[in-house]
Amino acid sequence: MHAVSRREALSIGAAAALAPIAGGAGSHAPPVPAAALDTTQEHPGMPPTPARPAAPFTVVLGIAQDGGVPQAGSFGDARWNDPARRRHVVSLGLVDPASGRRFVFDATPDFPRQLLELHRISGGAARPAIDGVFLTHAHIGHYTGLMYLGREAVGASKVPTHAMPRMRAFLETNGPWSQLVALGNIELRPLSAGQSVEPIPGVRVTPVPVPHRGEFSETVAFRIAGSARSVLWLPDIDTWREWDELGTRLEDALASVDVAYLDGCFFADGELPGRDMSRIPHPPIMDTIARLASLPLSVRAKVRFVHLNHTNPALDPQSDAARVIRDAGMRVAEEGEIEALNRA
Ligand SMILES: [Zn+2]
Ligand SMILES: [Zn+2]
Repeated sequence: MHAVSRREALSIGAAAALAPIAGGAGSHAPPVPAAALDTTQEHPGMPPTPARPAAPFTVVLGIAQDGGVPQAGSFGDARWNDPARRRHVVSLGLVDPASGRRFVFDATPDFPRQLLELHRISGGAARPAIDGVFLTHAHIGHYTGLMYLGREAVGASKVPTHAMPRMRAFLETNGPWSQLVALGNIELRPLSAGQSVEPIPGVRVTPVPVPHRGEFSETVAFRIAGSARSVLWLPDIDTWREWDELGTRLEDALASVDVAYLDGCFFADGELPGRDMSRIPHPPIMDTIARLASLPLSVRAKVRFVHLNHTNPALDPQSDAARVIRDAGMRVAEEGEIEALNRA
């Protein structure tokens, strides 16, 4: 089958994440040499050259919910003192090795570090900081990284920024984002539901509407399809049932892709003591596991959870929660993991 790469070292991720993946899921291809994306002092001595496919590929740049892991105000969280257990806010990179061009799905509060990781894994070619951005929606973890493209930081020029209509209007009419538009740091590109764009020759990116709290914008997932393989990027959704009602079944979505990065914000109901979780709906991982339990292992093994809240016990690969996920044939995505979009 295809190559599922795993990193050996990633400053943006954790040594802890190197625990066995999808235990017992025999459909997983053996890992290819991992991409060592970082040579900073956090991982001294690591080789600087990442292993990467020759054809377009995706790379996971973050798996945390909007607030990151650990989260602001969680002063007692031991992960502040353990860089290997921190996680960046949810983001996916897309790289074309032939041209060195690179794109991100969502611009997060961790954008500076994620740009660096993307630069390194794309071969470090002399290019603009980023060749394009695709936005899922207007919650803080998914677009605020755009601020770094402004005159106070990168001072970027006309970065194609693909967004749905309400998302575009939000950026055009609210500062400081409107300044990025007015000064030409970003250039808004329209997206329409179900209509694909081709940022890299042979790679089609298609927005798929999903139900999610829409205070400022609509929300989309993205289907990223190469010549032979495809990835679903779906970091936020309220409920699978509401998606059913919109005419898209999760099971059908899984059937149409090779890898599905799905909203895994909470492991189970009741995870946030003192907070009304009905106000921040996400399908608990346990519910997703239950819904997909009758599917063949080959389908379940496509599922990789992202957008994990800092309270989610599955962030610890040694936890019972992580074991439950592995026993279901699924796994939590790892920062740095690569998916080739062809079968080369
Ligand atoms: Zn989010
Ligand atoms: Zn959201």
